[in-house]
Amino acid sequence: MKKWVYTFGNGAAEGRAGDVAILGGKGAHLAEMASLGLPVPPGFTIISEVCGRYHQGGRQLPNDLKLQVSSGIAGMEVMTGRKFGAGPRPLLISIRSGARASMPGMMDTVLNLGLNDETVQALCEDSGDARFAWDSYRRFIQMYADVVMGLDHEVFEEILEDEKGRLGHEYDTELSADEWQHVVSRYKQLVEDELDEPFPQDTEVQLWGAIGAVFSSWMNTRAVTYRHLHNIPGDWGTAVNVQAMVFGNLGSTSATGVAFTRNPSTGEKELYGEFLVNAQGEDVVAGIRTPQSITEAARLASGSDKPSMEKLMPEAFQEFLAICKQLETHYRDMQDMEFTIERGQLWMLQTRCGKRTTRAAMKIAVDMVEEGLITADEAVCRIDPSSLDQLLHPTIDSSIERPIIGSGLPASPGAASGEIVFSAEEAVAAKAEGRRVILVRMETSPEDIHGMHAAEGILTTRGGMTSHAAVVARGMGIPCVTGAGSMRVDLRNGVLIGIGCMLRKGDVITIDGSSGRVLRGEVPMTQPELSGDFGKLMEWADGARRMTVRTNADTPADARAARAFGAEGIGLCRTEHMFFEGERIHVMREMILAEDEAGRRSALDQLLPMQREDFTELFSIMHGMPVTIRLLDPPLHEFLPKTDGEIVEVAAAMGMPQTLFRQRLDALHEFNPMLGHRGCRLAISYPEIAEMQARAIFEAAVEAARRTGAPVVPEIMVPLVSLRSELDYVRGVIDRVAAEVAAETGMTLEYLTGTMIELPRAALRAHVIAEAAEFFSFGTNDLTQTTFGISRDDAARFMNTYQRKGIIERDPFVSLDFDGVGELIRIAAERGRQTRSELKLGICGEHGGDPTSIDFCENVGLDYVSCSPFRVPIARLAAAQATLSQAEKQPNTSPKKVVAL
Ligand code: ADP
Ligand code: MG
Ligand code: MG
Repeated sequence: MKKWVYTFGNGAAEGRAGDVAILGGKGAHLAEMASLGLPVPPGFTIISEVCGRYHQGGRQLPNDLKLQVSSGIAGMEVMTGRKFGAGPRPLLISIRSGARASMPGMMDTVLNLGLNDETVQALCEDSGDARFAWDSYRRFIQMYADVVMGLDHEVFEEILEDEKGRLGHEYDTELSADEWQHVVSRYKQLVEDELDEPFPQDTEVQLWGAIGAVFSSWMNTRAVTYRHLHNIPGDWGTAVNVQAMVFGNLGSTSATGVAFTRNPSTGEKELYGEFLVNAQGEDVVAGIRTPQSITEAARLASGSDKPSMEKLMPEAFQEFLAICKQLETHYRDMQDMEFTIERGQLWMLQTRCGKRTTRAAMKIAVDMVEEGLITADEAVCRIDPSSLDQLLHPTIDSSIERPIIGSGLPASPGAASGEIVFSAEEAVAAKAEGRRVILVRMETSPEDIHGMHAAEGILTTRGGMTSHAAVVARGMGIPCVTGAGSMRVDLRNGVLIGIGCMLRKGDVITIDGSSGRVLRGEVPMTQPELSGDFGKLMEWADGARRMTVRTNADTPADARAARAFGAEGIGLCRTEHMFFEGERIHVMREMILAEDEAGRRSALDQLLPMQREDFTELFSIMHGMPVTIRLLDPPLHEFLPKTDGEIVEVAAAMGMPQTLFRQRLDALHEFNPMLGHRGCRLAISYPEIAEMQARAIFEAAVEAARRTGAPVVPEIMVPLVSLRSELDYVRGVIDRVAAEVAAETGMTLEYLTGTMIELPRAALRAHVIAEAAEFFSFGTNDLTQTTFGISRDDAARFMNTYQRKGIIERDPFVSLDFDGVGELIRIAAERGRQTRSELKLGICGEHGGDPTSIDFCENVGLDYVSCSPFRVPIARLAAAQATLSQAEKQPNTSPKKVVAL
């Protein structure tokens, strides 16, 4: 018989933390906590494989599951001394979803299951608290009707609001037992009216109804959307956890809460969390009442007059503190926990590695290395390289004085400006039009996920630091302010009322997720500090990685930015960008439109000093680091005027008759310019262009060396080579100019000549091309275009359809196609190095900044990756992780160098 059910409780468990793939995260960690001897209400986990069978098999469950669940329940009855579905001590249970990856709030949970008209009476007797028993029953009806029977929970809220209004109560906790009993009868009536069937009294029916509903919730729209956004495979399925209830709503000595072992926003080493007295389950995150701080320090910091858990329940607090410490040491990572205190007794209901902002992730990783909990290499591996983008987010310039129109909790750091929208749909629509918006809501729910994703920032007027909006925004790296109580959203009139102002949809506001402030209009921002924890982690990453990281930079500004981000050279300088600026375009056009070599040379003579000055500056900034310069690459027509107006203007400026001018334009026309007269083909038709560029490079190298005392070794890159003879020809021009400049200046010039590998033929003939090349740089943008025969500029039209229809998994222009393009890179690298073992290999396409592509580059043994300046830190970290994971795969070869503390 296949084992579908794994039990836990009473200091023992059949599963463990490593069983996440089978038991889901919640189940695996409940099991782990139980075996650690922590106070965990007993229960069992139905494995996630059942979910797949349920969905494939027409919602049928395996036959022998019934038996295993029954014996699981029987075990819980023994451990709790209670009975499921009967008095005098009824066992109530929760049915909880829990997948392999955390999907907060995406799937369903039912609490207090096992209550009916009889067991509720028994619960009154047994607990001695009738108010509690009826409160639990109404909660159960509401949740069950929502999750299992498909009745919107809002219709129940309406009844409750109506009763509260009638009775003059403000909070749920003020209702008496009789009043709750009345609410229960109205709830049951509502179910019957709406669904023509009574609320199920049979607790077995309740149990299987809830289990089925939790499995079904795996396929609900918001769960599917979430998986799509987070790349979680649909076939993982969710496990179902069945667990004995413990009650935080048993009066003033009971409570429920959520906590992180460290601050998930800043990473500060301080217990961080919120709790509510006399409340159950999701009351804390739902924002029904404002939660209280767990520690006294946090209470003081927030200026709240509501007592902390530390003061109110000192014993439970001390026990909880010890458990936090134990869990963190055990898991060697920051934990996010749920707990409940039932009449003074603490129960642990969940633990997992806590989500955190990138800033917090870095601080926690660095602190944990210093505490001796993890190694520097582990710290490096704990940061998601792509998430570094968050850090490069701007913050509000603190010197700017602006009136604050509201303030709330700093739920997710970074600042953002945008137009106000009030719904997820509006946010998505605005984003599609290229507008930047701030999503403003009372609170968010999982249905808003797509809108949150489309927004620059999120502002809610309700909810705490652990509210849905806060958790999701931190995960997405979007700035967020929650609980801005001084502001009010009036949806009926479509306005946001702030301090001293009333704003409408479309008005611009700025939120500061680091301070919680809300400001009117757009506010100037400053760039973040890149030292401290960031600097330390980068240092460790640099010590661990094998490949060097260069940047693609065409301008001095790019080069300076890249060096600040730690670039170790330029992997691609596109010279054509230098020809577009100001006056230069005119000279360039003159050169292109010249009728003969003499005409071209006279224009090139004017371009030479400009280009030489550009290179001198670039070389000076790079101060001795390697700089790869690509000779002119694009089809010439890119430089020419296109509209009639422009043509008239340019012809006049050049003093050329219009008809002649148009004739020259026609002559330059190409049907498919990207596969046309470009790359090395230009240098072969017009060697004087390559000559001028080579001269500019060499003269600049001499000049920069004189200025800085740090000579660069220029690497001259010939683009779009497919034949060795092409490279030979252009190389001949370069070498001749080098000799001339050396003779003129009396200096010995050191330089490398190489080529871009961006055509399949070049990759296949790499062993021959390497005879004439000292380096290869993989131009993966063009190589992807030419391997697939897909034009990158036109791919957008069908790439979405391809991905939606499952024809292709990832856009090959974003993430390298390992199987095809990758195979060509592998072949070229191998064949090239067969000919020339010291051949330098690098990548300079967009992919050079993509972490999974970087991992591939490590694998193939490239010497460096080159990416845009802002991605340099990402590439440094990704390269380190690639080296470390490579070393893990081959335990005999240790990575180049691993920094020990
Ligand atoms: P989610 O994944 O959405 O957090 P959970 O399964 O963790 O859903 O449960 C929702 C809420 O109910 C949480 O606050 C949790 O602590 C609480 N809860 C779940 N099971 C129990 C239980 N057996 N006793 C008391 N509270 C519970
Ligand atoms: Mg939970
Ligand atoms: Mg190219």
